[in-house]
Amino acid sequence: MGDKVNLVGDVVRITDLDNVATVVNLQGMSAGSHFSETDTVREFIPMGHKVALIPIEEGQSIIKYGTAIGKARCAIKPGDWVHFKNMELIPAPEVKHLPGPVNSGPLGTPLEGYTFEGYKNKDGSTGTKNVLAIATSVQCVAGMAEHLAHLIKRDLLQFYPNVDDVVAINHSYGCGIAMDSALSAIPVRTLQNLLRNPNFGNEVMVLGLGCEKLRPEQLVSELRSEKRTFMYLQDPEFNGFGEMVEGALKMAKDYLQRLNARKRATCPASDLVVGMQCGGSDGLSGITGNPVAGFAADLLVRAGASVMFSEITEVRDALHVLTPRIEDGSVRKKLIDEISWYDQYLKRGRADRSANPTPGNRQGGLSNVIEKAMGSIAKSGSSPIVDVLSPGERIRKPGMTFAATPASDFICGTLQLAAGMNLHVFITGRGSPYGLPMVPVIKISSNSRLSRQWHDLIDINAGAVADGDKSIEQMGWELFHYMLDVASGKRQVACDRLGLHNDLVLFNPGPVT
Ligand code: CA
Repeated sequence: MGDKVNLVGDVVRITDLDNVATVVNLQGMSAGSHFSETDTVREFIPMGHKVALIPIEEGQSIIKYGTAIGKARCAIKPGDWVHFKNMELIPAPEVKHLPGPVNSGPLGTPLEGYTFEGYKNKDGSTGTKNVLAIATSVQCVAGMAEHLAHLIKRDLLQFYPNVDDVVAINHSYGCGIAMDSALSAIPVRTLQNLLRNPNFGNEVMVLGLGCEKLRPEQLVSELRSEKRTFMYLQDPEFNGFGEMVEGALKMAKDYLQRLNARKRATCPASDLVVGMQCGGSDGLSGITGNPVAGFAADLLVRAGASVMFSEITEVRDALHVLTPRIEDGSVRKKLIDEISWYDQYLKRGRADRSANPTPGNRQGGLSNVIEKAMGSIAKSGSSPIVDVLSPGERIRKPGMTFAATPASDFICGTLQLAAGMNLHVFITGRGSPYGLPMVPVIKISSNSRLSRQWHDLIDINAGAVADGDKSIEQMGWELFHYMLDVASGKRQVACDRLGLHNDLVLFNPGPVT
């Protein structure tokens, strides 16, 4: 290790400590092509995959991102393709032995004067969209909520030009559940906080059935509204489907009227609450897309905004890199508590660390969960971590927060919405049509192959970094300005233009009855 290798060709080594580099050209590297002045690749290595730079003995660490991501299963020669077949997984960092805070010095000068056009809410939050949410207390009424959203969009929305969309907040919870289980706190607070998402303008109507366990009153008490905020389909006042629809539309019209009175106004960039997430990652995600998102995250923090990163199983193996960024002892304890809780949760289900990465991640060059985690945390930038949220909790502080969520794209997105996210950034290497109707989702491609192939599904191509066309800094600024434009409604993201939106999925670790 530490041997100086003068790289040539299409490979990237992230730190000088690394004994592997990543192939970044779209076609991969064929056998015999040079990766250094003296050495050549010994077999074809696809884009996103690793090449050994120096001899690595059996049992020796394989180093990428300056950290051991595994050990060699056999002797590896310079030019060999390093992948899960010749790499062994090493244990995750123990929560008891994590490094303490390191004074990283000032983050950079505060960024002043950056603004966007948003919707100011009574509770102090700011929306980036103006959405009528039709919430539900139980899955039984999901069909009705969808029917109403469809009718309103077709027949009414044209009369309320300031309202952007109507969305049914459907979910699988509400009945057949053990409400007295301590674990029900997670889905219940997630639903309560979802309804407080800034893009709903503190105006959410709730449809209930009547006999369910989770009461609509429990969901809207948080909104402290004097208005009528919910109706039950089993209400004796409704004689048949037609009357239910009529009653609900009457209620919806009041909401539409109030939402229509909302106008965009100039807001400081500090009003943004941005959720960072990746899905369908590849070997370039940690080199291009995630560092670009991380650079933009640092800019947001300098502008006073709130930013979240999540996905417990994808930070678990990089904890030793995160704890030095936490100054407050109680925040550090909360992180360790959340991680330990999740370790136990996975253990109960007998899940081991090989459950992640996915087959697609592996094809894209990610050999194991450690390598995936080291790339994943790049999207959290370098700012101090000021807070840790339990699943479904609302964000409390400006700066960088770790919102503890599963890595599942739809569950993470749902929990970040509940935390108060008003803008979402999603980085992908393999490609995902992921989108949410409640907040704009900016999709970033980690490589130019995907952005060319999915030219109408990707908003920003961070593959330009691997192609040598742009720097991470340049693209980070580009993303920062793009976020302000999207938050202002001046630019429409691809998934909104195409109407590609996922379902909400609650995280319910509790028993179902
Ligand atoms: Ca994810």
